[in-house]
Amino acid sequence: MATEIPSEMQRRNLVGLGRAALAAELAAFGAEPFRARQLWHWIYHRGATDFAAMTSLSKTFREELAVHYALQRPAVSRALTSIDGTRKWLLRFPDGQEVETVHIPEEERGTLCVSSQVGCTLSCTFCHTGTQRLVRNLGATEIVAQVMIARDYLGEWPPAVQPDRQVTNIVLMGMGEPLFNYDNVAKALKIIMDPEGLSISRRKITLSTAGVVPMIRRCGAEIGVNLAVSLHAVRDDIRDRLVPLNRKYPIAELLDACRSYPGGSNARRITFEYVMLKGVNDSPAEARQLVRLLAGIPAKVNLIPFNPWPGTPFECSSEAAITAFSDIVFAAGYSAPVRTPRGRDILAACGQLKSASVKLRRREPEPLSAA
Ligand code: SAH
Repeated sequence: MATEIPSEMQRRNLVGLGRAALAAELAAFGAEPFRARQLWHWIYHRGATDFAAMTSLSKTFREELAVHYALQRPAVSRALTSIDGTRKWLLRFPDGQEVETVHIPEEERGTLCVSSQVGCTLSCTFCHTGTQRLVRNLGATEIVAQVMIARDYLGEWPPAVQPDRQVTNIVLMGMGEPLFNYDNVAKALKIIMDPEGLSISRRKITLSTAGVVPMIRRCGAEIGVNLAVSLHAVRDDIRDRLVPLNRKYPIAELLDACRSYPGGSNARRITFEYVMLKGVNDSPAEARQLVRLLAGIPAKVNLIPFNPWPGTPFECSSEAAITAFSDIVFAAGYSAPVRTPRGRDILAACGQLKSASVKLRRREPEPLSAA
């Protein structure tokens, strides 16, 4: 075992390590191989935040671990609850960067909306996050930590009796473009899906992309989670304006990649997200064109009423326009539910996330409690 005692700052954090990294760390520490498995269980299945709680390990071993290692979560600098029960946590990492994570409780399930980047490079014109520049990618650890913090706050770690699990589904629909941070996202999802840990299966995980075509194939082959595509327009000139990434990967190429996404069957359809913007993309003719475009793709359409944010030039389509659009898509045989906006009052709905870190930096110095 190592002899020198590291200071608090140097204790290596074990939370967020994958299986191989955890095994290597413990091997270097001089522990027997089965210890890594025990720790995995305590960290990811039981959510332990203290080595002292790991009662299947000897007291001496627990003490040695505590001297050299930490079990840390990022700080939660703000926690908000909407009148509809949606919760939002602003997470603050040691470098001061922040992201938001949202929990949306429903009758039969609870969905956690996870961020993949601090800020975003896509600059979609209707998206609040798009007005914040990309600061950096999140590490795998920081992505996994979002799920762990949700479980902490929801009191969801075993053996707590939990008749309805509160985080049953995960959507990578928070801040950032997950396919621009593919390696860390894939690494994190592997940890999240591990059946002896957080254990959320690939069928309950949906990755949403604005259409990074070359990475869609890899995502399908390597992680195989459900795919959602932010389509939002049926003509390239309009999509170019809404989702500038379209200039690089236009609609036809994007739909080709979707056609070959594995697992596309009736049970595992690709979700096409379509934000309803008044007078921009919401006409019946566009609904009919959408149906033509989706021919041959096992698809469902998710119509998202535009969620406003301070300073946006866009408006949400009228209820009548949304219903008419949905009816046309539905009549063509596609499910076309209108997504109920959740957590609008706490700016937690789709496209409303934006970390306060930008503002905070400008106003510094300021006490952290004001974050
Ligand atoms: N970058 C990925 C992940 C973000 S998911 C992607 O683009 O898919 C967030 C979803 O909310 C996307 O479909 C996004 O286009 C949509 N969205 C963004 N701003 C919105 C707004 N103001 N109202 C409704 N939906 C919005």
